[in-house]
Parts: sequence; structure tokens; C-alpha cells
Amino acid sequence: MKIKTLNDIVAWRLCLGCGACAYICKNNFVELRDVPNQGIRPFMVSDQCGTCSDCVQVCPGYSTPGFLNPAASEKYQQVNEKGWGPIMEIWEGYATDPEIRYNGSSGGAATAIALYCLEKLNMHGVLHIGNDKDHPLKNAVFMSSNYADLLSRTGSRYSPASPCGGLYKIESAPSPCVFIGKPCDVTGFQMACKLRPGLQDKNGLSIGTFCAGTPSSLGMIELLKKMNINPDMVEDIRYRGRGWPGLFTVHLKDRVQSFQKTYLEAWGFLQKFRPFRCYLCPDGTAAYADISCGDPWYRTIGENEKGYSLVIVRTEKGREILKGAMANGYLTLEPEPVCIEKLINSQAGLLQKRKDIWGRLLMMKIFGLPVPQYPGFCLFKHWLSSSAKQKIRSLLGTARRIVQRKYYHPFISAQLNERPANHEDKINH
Ligand SMILES: Cc1cc2nc3c(=O)[nH]c(=O)nc-3n(C[C@H](O)[C@H](O)[C@H](O)COP(=O)(O)OP(=O)(O)OC[C@H]3O[C@@H](n4cnc5c(N)ncnc54)[C@H](O)[C@@H]3O)c2cc1C
Ligand code: SF4
Ligand code: SF4
Repeated sequence: MKIKTLNDIVAWRLCLGCGACAYICKNNFVELRDVPNQGIRPFMVSDQCGTCSDCVQVCPGYSTPGFLNPAASEKYQQVNEKGWGPIMEIWEGYATDPEIRYNGSSGGAATAIALYCLEKLNMHGVLHIGNDKDHPLKNAVFMSSNYADLLSRTGSRYSPASPCGGLYKIESAPSPCVFIGKPCDVTGFQMACKLRPGLQDKNGLSIGTFCAGTPSSLGMIELLKKMNINPDMVEDIRYRGRGWPGLFTVHLKDRVQSFQKTYLEAWGFLQKFRPFRCYLCPDGTAAYADISCGDPWYRTIGENEKGYSLVIVRTEKGREILKGAMANGYLTLEPEPVCIEKLINSQAGLLQKRKDIWGRLLMMKIFGLPVPQYPGFCLFKHWLSSSAKQKIRSLLGTARRIVQRKYYHPFISAQLNERPANHEDKINH
């Protein structure tokens, strides 16, 4: 079965919802919509689409190459084979500003570095996602341009978000910008930069967050139901942050009541709603970012813990900016860099997922399903390093999912005819 069009990518569940196709379509024919049990997906709003295929070329859901930069491939091949992408340095640290550290998802490093770029490197803004005030259950894409904006958009949001849908804001900015997103968002961004030199000119810095998968909107609706909360009464949802890892907190419109769950309870529930595509994702640590940030899960977690971020430097530009953020007091790093074993201890789940992928793709091929293309990812080597028990588990688990959830049928959703994911995601360039 061959993938030829954007509709094929969506129908065969290869889309991961980054939004890059909506940005790249010069004719504004692609609109992003939230499919409650999947995630944000592109929808063709015109039947006038020609044959440029930019949307397919930019799509990390269909194809993610092992390296975008051949120079990096030689130097860091050995580390990449271990499954973490190119690594120059790994640090542990936190935002020096106590508010950012407290509100941040881990240690607020992503926000602190972005703030340094705005205030000291004169970058125009930071393209990232935050809570959509008009639709409190959803996320929107924003260009933040000051401390207050950035602070209000700290914290991981475990629900669909498509930051690449807003890339036109970077392209049309008067000076370079920072991009923050999940690993697949960063890949979409970098692939779009390759197709659009005007975007690359404004690529000031890319920051990626580690990611184990994005739960669909249905996950959050079901969680609210379990907590006896009427979704129409919700004013704001905070998924974590404000302590490490922080509490899942729902504020209601009456401004009196708020409901909370621990991080482990909330993520434990939501993660069951991650779409199949996330189980096929080989890049959990944003290999294409200049800087990646994640959680140091080897530390003790607790409501009163102050957050720390694991920070991976992946490019020379990332290294210079990290050094600058540190020298100018935006970021505090531990005196010595962290060894790769700490990363492995911290993110064992992400590594195991990568080891499972070759078998999962094999099972999809046996069922005659199209699979994402991952040239240069050493996936077979990772598969071999998995235990026999785990190999069987991932093969059978994939077969079970395909049969039980009828993945052998293309997905065509009536829900795609519903309202756009949010007003900000609509293309406007
Ligand atoms: C879906 C998801 C899965 C995750 N899985 C893992 C994991 O497996 N291991 C791990 O260590 N950490 C995971 N994280 C947490 C993530 O690694 C931390 O957010 C990261 O450490 C950044 O922390 P910080 O304190 O530096 O970020 P902050 O300074 O708080 O900034 C967070 C930034 O992330 C952006 N953001 C928030 N949610 C999203 C989203 N859904 N899509 C795109 N951008 C978003 C915000 O706009 C903000 O700019 C996950 C986060 C998400 C959203
Ligand atoms: S570019 Fe992104 S949003 Fe568009 S089809 Fe591909 S993965 Fe999905
Ligand atoms: S697991 Fe991979 S595909 Fe899924 S949201 Fe995270 S980075 Fe994207």
C-alpha cells in the first residue's frame, strides 16, 4: 500500500499532529482539526489541490530521516546508535528565576533559555503552545514575546498541540525566533526549514522536550469525567508544574473550586489514550533540536521538590546559547556535566520504545499496512538488543491492537468535519 497524499497519511494513522503540512500549503488548503480519539489532524478543505506534494515532503509522520545534517551523522554516529540522537553535552540544572523554576514542567530550563534569547539575543519571539483561553480544554499556538507570556505558558500539556501550524509567525517575524515543541514538532519544524529558506532564516533556536506520547482529547475528557467535573465548567487545566513534577489541577469557572490529582495518577490515566502513532515514534528526546529538555526521573519526586531539568546540547548553536544563558544568570547548571548513564536511567521507557519499533513495523507490514519511513535510525540493531520476552510482547501487542482496533481499515473520521482545532491553528498567511 503506497502513501501518496496527505489524506493517505491521515487515513493510515501515520499523522502525529505536528501541523507542518498546514503551514507549508501555499494555498491554505489544509486545516487542522481535533479528532477527539486521535489528536489534531489535517483536513483538506479544497478539492483544488494540485501536485506540489510539499505537505507530504514536510511530514515527519510519514518520514523521519535518521539525520538531517550529514556532518553531525559522522561525528555522533556512535551515540546515535545508542538511541538518543546526537549529543554534545548533557547537563542538569534549572531556571535561575524562582517563578520560572516553580511553574516549569521540570526545572523550567526550556523557558529560561527562551527568555535569554528574547532579552539578550534580541530574538523576536518564542513560538510554542499554551492553554487556549477561549476553549479551556484545548491548546493554541502563541508567539510569546516577554517574561509574562512565557511564564503563563510554562508546563507540559498532555493533550494535542500542533506548534508547527503557527510557523508562518516565525517566517514573517522581523528577526529570528525560538521554536519549542515535542520531538516530532521539532522534526516538522526542521523539515519545513529545509523546504522554506525564509523560515530557516528566522530559525534562531529550536528547543525540544522529551516525549513519551500525546494523549488524545478524549483522554482528558474521560479524566474529567472520572473526577466528576463537568467539562463546560472548566476554566483552566494545569497538567503539572508548580513543584516537581507538580499536580494535575483543574480550576472551575466559579473561581472557587479546584480539583487535583497527583502527576502519577493523572499521567497513569491519560497515557492510555496515546494514539498508535506514538508507539511507532523512534525519537523521544528531540534529536533534531539544538537543545533538548526532559525530566531527571532518577530523582525523588514529591510535591515539595524543586524541579530540575535534564538538558542535552545537540548543536554548536545550542552550546553557545546555553553557555550565554548560564553566564547571564538565566540558567543554573550543576558544576559537572551528566554522563549518558543518567539519561538512560532517567528515560528507560523511551529507550525500550525505540527497541520495540522494528518489530512493530514488521507486524504492520505483515498486515499489509503502510509504515512510517525511518532511514538511518538503526532500528533493527535496537530490536536485537531487546530481550526475547519483550520482542514477543511487542509483536503480539501490535497484532492485537491492529485486530482489536481494526487498524487494517483506513480511518475516515466524520469528526474531521467539525470545527477547527482552534482559531490560532487556522492558517493565516
Ligand atoms: C506529551 C508530553 C510527553 C512527555 N513525555 C516525557 C517523557 O517521556 N520523559 C520526560 O522526561 N519528559 C516528558 N515530558 C515532559 C517534558 O520533557 C518537559 O516538559 C521538559 O522537561 C521541559 O521542561 P521545562 O521545565 O524545561 O519546560 P518549561 O519551561 O515548563 O516549558 C515547557 C514548554 O513546553 C511547551 N509544551 C507544553 N506542552 C506541550 C505540548 N503538548 N506540545 C508542544 N509543546 C508543549 C510549552 O509551550 C513550554 O514552552 C513530556 C511532555 C509532554 C508535553
Ligand atoms: S505534517 Fe504533521 S500534521 Fe501534517 S500529516 Fe504530517 S504529521 Fe500530520
Ligand atoms: S511520542 Fe513521538 S510522535 Fe508521539 S507526540 Fe511524542 S514526539 Fe510526537
